Amino acid sequence: MSKLSTNDSKAVQKRHKCQKCGKYYIGYPALSRKDNKTNICPECGVAEALDIFLSIQQ
Ligand SMILES: [Zn+2]
Repeated sequence: MSKLSTNDSKAVQKRHKCQKCGKYYIGYPALSRKDNKTNICPECGVAEALDIFLSIQQ
C-alpha cells in the first residue's frame, strides 16, 4: 500500500518592489551597496556590484 505524500511545505515567497528599477521580484532582496539600506532586486544587486567592481578597477 503506497501512499503519495504531498509535499505541502509552503515556501514563504514574499513579493518585493525594487526601489531601483521598480520591478517586482520574489525572494530575498539585495541590499543596495550605494547606501546599505535600500532593498533592490537581485538583478540590480548584481548590476551594482559589477558597477562598483568596475569603478574600483579604474
Ligand atoms: Zn531592480
